[in-house]
Amino acid sequence: MSTGLTGKVAVVTGSTRGIGRGIAVALAREGAKVVINGLDDEIEAASAYREVTESGGMALLYPGDITDERFVQGLVDETEQELGPIDIWVNNAGGGKNIPFLDLDDERWHSTIDLNLHSAFRCIRRVIPGMLERGFGRIINIASQLGVKGGYEQAHYATAKAGLIGLTRSLALEFAGSGVTINAIAPGRIQTEKTPGTARVSQAWLERKLREIPMGRFGKVEEVSATAVLIASTPGGDFYTGQTFHPNGGEVMP
Ligand code: NAD
Repeated sequence: MSTGLTGKVAVVTGSTRGIGRGIAVALAREGAKVVINGLDDEIEAASAYREVTESGGMALLYPGDITDERFVQGLVDETEQELGPIDIWVNNAGGGKNIPFLDLDDERWHSTIDLNLHSAFRCIRRVIPGMLERGFGRIINIASQLGVKGGYEQAHYATAKAGLIGLTRSLALEFAGSGVTINAIAPGRIQTEKTPGTARVSQAWLERKLREIPMGRFGKVEEVSATAVLIASTPGGDFYTGQTFHPNGGEVMP
């Protein structure tokens, strides 16, 4: 079935590696023109750019800090100038270190909320008017299963991701019927370059984590990016809005 993504313009924040990179590649494979963003070093960014262009899509590399509102303005302007109006926006840049609640100071609380939640709010606010005018848009927010079940020593991160799910639902209500859909993906544990390897964690830790997942394994990046393609697609994605998708091997069943 056609995904209707050929020629669509997509911005994926935090796409120089990990899940974001997987989504950028998957959208490019469907013929989308993709903007790659991230904070990684030039080598990693260049390799993401190469992978996306080799996947068949046209790409633009626009590295920088998505929490900086002026940077976002430049990213949007340059994308529209180089590739055309933005059809798909994926708020993927995010993350958060484990910090026990009693050690959580204001700075680490705010910076985590800023990266995982405020940046999505600011990006959506910037791109949604054009989408509404054109009667088509796809906003995809990458949350986390911890936003649903909470996270041990992850109060800051889980709160931000829960907020992102609330934002998704609220905007879906406000813009339903406009042609612009807003959905979230709340992955479980996904194997990325950054997933702790045996060098840093004990075998016992890994085995315990795997036992928490009914399927008994971490997820793959492709198992998240396929969901993003479905939501972004048309007509396949047209009737989903306000939804949170849960690629998590059965770890959370909301
Ligand atoms: P990752 O750390 O491997 O990649 C993060 C990407 O975001 C990188 O490209 C990095 O350069 C970029 N980034 C970080 N801060 C940025 C900033 N301020 N501005 C622009 N780019 C920035 O992360 P990942 O594991 O691929 O996770 C991607 C998303 O999925 C995150 O939102 C994360 O919270 C979420 N998630 C991941 C998992 C998992 O198991 N990997 C599970 C649930 C949710």
